[in-house]
Amino acid sequence: MDAVGTHIQAAPTLSRHVARTAAIAVAAALVVCLAVSATIGASFSRGEDDQRLRSALAVTSELETLLTLHAAANTDFLEGVGVAGYSSRGWPIRRAAAVAGTYDRLEHDLAGGADALKKLRQLRRLSTAWPQELDTAARNLALANAGDIVQPMLLQHANKTLSSIMTLISDLRSEEREQIADMQFRAQGQLVRQRISLAVASAAGALLLLFALFTRQRASLTKIRSQIVAGEAQRRFREYFEQHPVSMLIFDVHSYEILTANAAAQRQYGATLEQLRTLPADQLRPAADVEEFRRDIQAHLESGTRGGAAGVRRHRRADGEIFYVDVTYHLLDFAGHEACFVTAHDVTAHEQAKESLRVRSRALDASKNAVIISGKIDGNSTITYVNAAFERITGRSAQEAIGAELWNLIGCDISTPDARSMRMAMRAESEGASLLQCRRRDGSVYWIDLHVAPVLDGQDRPTHFVTVFSDVSERVLYQEQLRTQAHEDALTRLPNRLGLKATLTGMIERAVSEGNRLALVFLDLDNFKEVNDTLGHTAGDQVLCEVARRLSGAVSRQELVVRYAGDEFVAALYGRGDVDSFMAAATAMKEALTHGLTVGNRLIVPQASVGVAVFPDHSRDPDTLLKYADAAMYRAKSAGPNSILLFNHEIAVQDNRRATLAQALRHAVASDAFSLAYQPRVNPATGTPSGFEALVRWQDPEHGDVSPSVFVPIAEETGLIVQIGQWVLEHACRQTKAWASQHPDIVVSVNVSPVQFERSDLPAMIAATLERTAVSARNIELEITEGVLMAPGSLVTLRALREMGLSIAIDDFGTGYSSLGYIRSFLADRLKLDMSFVRGIGRSHADEVIVKAVLAMGRTLGMRVVAEGVETPVQLEFLLSNGCDEVQGYWFARPMNAAAAHAYLLHGTAQESTRVT
Ligand code: C2E
Ligand code: MG
Ligand code: MG
Repeated sequence: MDAVGTHIQAAPTLSRHVARTAAIAVAAALVVCLAVSATIGASFSRGEDDQRLRSALAVTSELETLLTLHAAANTDFLEGVGVAGYSSRGWPIRRAAAVAGTYDRLEHDLAGGADALKKLRQLRRLSTAWPQELDTAARNLALANAGDIVQPMLLQHANKTLSSIMTLISDLRSEEREQIADMQFRAQGQLVRQRISLAVASAAGALLLLFALFTRQRASLTKIRSQIVAGEAQRRFREYFEQHPVSMLIFDVHSYEILTANAAAQRQYGATLEQLRTLPADQLRPAADVEEFRRDIQAHLESGTRGGAAGVRRHRRADGEIFYVDVTYHLLDFAGHEACFVTAHDVTAHEQAKESLRVRSRALDASKNAVIISGKIDGNSTITYVNAAFERITGRSAQEAIGAELWNLIGCDISTPDARSMRMAMRAESEGASLLQCRRRDGSVYWIDLHVAPVLDGQDRPTHFVTVFSDVSERVLYQEQLRTQAHEDALTRLPNRLGLKATLTGMIERAVSEGNRLALVFLDLDNFKEVNDTLGHTAGDQVLCEVARRLSGAVSRQELVVRYAGDEFVAALYGRGDVDSFMAAATAMKEALTHGLTVGNRLIVPQASVGVAVFPDHSRDPDTLLKYADAAMYRAKSAGPNSILLFNHEIAVQDNRRATLAQALRHAVASDAFSLAYQPRVNPATGTPSGFEALVRWQDPEHGDVSPSVFVPIAEETGLIVQIGQWVLEHACRQTKAWASQHPDIVVSVNVSPVQFERSDLPAMIAATLERTAVSARNIELEITEGVLMAPGSLVTLRALREMGLSIAIDDFGTGYSSLGYIRSFLADRLKLDMSFVRGIGRSHADEVIVKAVLAMGRTLGMRVVAEGVETPVQLEFLLSNGCDEVQGYWFARPMNAAAAHAYLLHGTAQESTRVT
């Protein structure tokens, strides 16, 4: 520049024309000079900007490192759950040191003033607290045993802290990013301005050259000067463009041909300059965004603005990876092209963090659980946020929720112990969980499972509470329903056994405090099984419902009737006075049942055996009282149908004996303590035995000889009869086999309990026994009761048994239902007339008529009739004269052991020494 001025002053002899030309040349040189100085000036301030930009980029990168370190710690912690010592996995010393170092560098580099620094310090505090929270959650898990659930509140707390950390980092990065974008734009503007200066300088140089050529005055000097200036500007532009840390590229706005790209862009897009030059710029976008890109360019061209921020866009690396960039653009002329100069700053990490925050906040909004965030203001918790689920569950809008007090809003009864303990937990700034009953605005009741946890600041002071609850009304109602169902009988809707238990204790407590009596009345329907078996279960159900109705009608509101089991009912009567009054009430209840009731087209007269036990006279303990009422009922039943009995000491003794016998019987089955006695069945005219009835005998070391009429019912109740029956059959078959060799027509009968029909595969068991003992089926007879005949499905079994060659006798005929319909459907081989009728011969006309009728019926239907319990010659005479086929009884022989029975077979009389009874 100086050289140009010196040169002008050194030519005083020039003509006016030459002087004008020289002035123009000087002016042109000045323009060039200005352009160059502007470029140089710009390059000074650019140096500072560069520095700031580099430090901002460094801060962004440090923040990214922080983000990565926390994310990695979180991942390691979660992956390590359950592994010994995993709490330290998330935060090893190396990582902790890296975080501390990063914070130190950030404190040094972070621009943005006091506010940013404050945020950074808060961030640092949270980073310190978070590993401790993870540690607490981990210790809790260790306590809860590996594999269990971490106490959700502890982990939630740690997660909240992590979330705050992420948010703060993200905030700082946003601020930093805004600064970078600003600097980016300014840098680009400068470059564009440089290019304009460059263009002006070049134009001025060219002009000067023209003038110089034209005037031939100092032409070469001017030309060199302008070329130097232009070259310098170009070099500076290139240098700045090339070295700029942010990715920059220039492309043709029509052909999208990439004209140039700096080193940062080459790194960012993963391609060399040569490779980039072969790509159209739209190839740097994902296919789906190409249209948008073209529209953007078109809009920039049409808008007339030469540059600006295009916002965040998705770009694509040469290898196809998609990333986010913040784009600014300038339109300019470049190397003869109408071009777009683009800077693209990678903001992928920030966008992802933003996305993850968005997803989290979306998840909160979309959560099925109500979420409330309340701030602690003056000791009260005032709501600052509610999600959509809150509005749905409570029926209250977010608008009315914000600013309201938590407990007023959820409308729960704060006087309950659960609610009180929750409020205390909040006051103590700790966590709490509870099941609460609340009311909606419309008054409807709902149940919530509520969890509250404080959100702590860096000094562990709670600033907020997070309350999460779910509507568990359905579950609670269902549980209530189950509880009711568990206490209620589905058929009669009376309380059941559990219902009785639940109420009885309270009733007894009341009786104690009021000095009153209470009675348990145990009712068991007589022959109910027959109703079920003959009329079907629907009819049986109808009877049970009617019985329930009648019994319920007989008690007061403070008393109770329950269906205890199948056909058993228990009434708890209260405060009726003395024991006699209770007995009178129980008798009245029993009588109330005996009114006829029509089921289908049958008239049924329900009857019950009833036992009564009174508090406090018989026992003060509810279970014992029930046991006594049951025992009294059991005794009443054995006295005949429709009986009632008040508990007494003797019953207790017997009940006790029954229990000990049952125990002894179990041992007897295991130790094979049974034997068989045989009672002959004889021809009444000749006394010749045609066979025997096998009768089981049990001699217990403690209880001595126990009669089958005592232990068989116990064996039936306990199911032991199945094993005992099998034992009896096995031994009877073996004995029969032995006798049959000499007496091929002998028929030995074996008693079969109805329980054996119900609980075992009788035909299979019998077939196997016959085969094992090699006895012929025609030598064996099964004695069944009328009840078996009536049981559903039994006819099929009986026919199967008969097909095997066995004969069937109906035992104790006349004591059960003696339904002629059933007799007709299954014609047995023998009818064994019950001894109660035989006993009436010579005494009761009615009995004699029945005996005659049964004998006549047997004869007509082709069934042999055996009279049981013949003890007197009168009985024998009567039977003989009425055509009885066979008799059995003490008159001829008592049951005896096998040896005696054998002798009886041979001689027709029992040997005294071998008799058993
Ligand atoms: P049941 O089948 O009716 O047997 C006849 C019962 O009458 C036998 O009583 C027998 O000793 C008794 N008896 C026979 N003649 C007379 C008599 O002239 N006067 C009197 N007072 N009694 C007589 P036991 O042996 O005590 O058996 C009683 C009941 O026990 C049997 O009655 C039968 O129902 C059952 N029982 C006996 N053994 C078995 C068995 O092995 N299995 C099953 N399931 N029940 C059996
Ligand atoms: Mg019998
Ligand atoms: Mg009998």
